[in-house]
Amino acid sequence: MSTFSAFDTDLQAPATLTAVDISCWFGDHKVLEKVNLTMEAGKVTALIGPSGCGKSTFLRTLNRMHELVPSAALAGEVRLNEDDIYDDGIKITDVRRQVGMVFQKPNPFPAMSIRDNVLSGLTLTGRKISGSGADDLVEETLAKSGLWTEVKDRLRNAGGSLSGGQQQRLCIARSLAVRPSVLLMDEPCSALDPTSTRRIEQTIQELSTEVTIVIVTHNMQQAQRVSDDCAFFLAEAGTPGGIVEAGPTELMFSVPQDPRTLDYVHGRFG
Ligand code: ADP
Ligand code: MG
Repeated sequence: MSTFSAFDTDLQAPATLTAVDISCWFGDHKVLEKVNLTMEAGKVTALIGPSGCGKSTFLRTLNRMHELVPSAALAGEVRLNEDDIYDDGIKITDVRRQVGMVFQKPNPFPAMSIRDNVLSGLTLTGRKISGSGADDLVEETLAKSGLWTEVKDRLRNAGGSLSGGQQQRLCIARSLAVRPSVLLMDEPCSALDPTSTRRIEQTIQELSTEVTIVIVTHNMQQAQRVSDDCAFFLAEAGTPGGIVEAGPTELMFSVPQDPRTLDYVHGRFG
């Protein structure tokens, strides 16, 4: 495990995220109970489980988005390498830069150019970049997100002119441009057709050496194709959600420890 601080901006490498006893509430409704999970640096961890079991809520605790919900409360720790992202000494803007997020529905700025969409995260984090540096960054991140060859001749066109799958890869490029050490993805393919989905899956696999990836997916084939490790979440009748088990994806899908995991990955419920 890497031990350097991910907040040292000179170092850019995938970081390990460790959730320690994470519990979450919306008002007095407890939706997650003491979740513990290590998401290893440079790997893809898939979060699976039926709707409503708290996967998205858990994902939002990993970059401090959970606290944006007015009634939301949280207990526990999230470590990015050695640092607790909830520590008073750590700035929330630094957390969001280190731990990027890609959502279910692609959300580029539709009227903004493809190029400016890629660079928009830098502007928002108040960082400046020179003309040729910006060109290089646009090419590099669009190449990593698998979009460069499709858009290199029309970088000034609007982000909204792209197809859904291309827009999602543009959002991935935008996230990469601020050089995060972790990328969170909440069902990033659920609004896409199968071809675009496979393209994004390929991108995810290529990116995992650059950035730690945590992906929520309802698609069991996708979890098997893209993830190294898997965590199975479940909220049983009237109880808060939690992890039933977690481990290497291959084992989770073949010889899981818990019969509920086997039933779920074989599509018997949820
Ligand atoms: P999943 O992503 O696994 O489908 P969620 O994390 O979205 O599950 O939801 C977990 C639980 O938290 C659900 O009971 C859901 O109704 C509740 N919940 C999620 N978001 C909110 C919110 N903004 N306000 C109140 N309850 C919420
Ligand atoms: Mg969800």
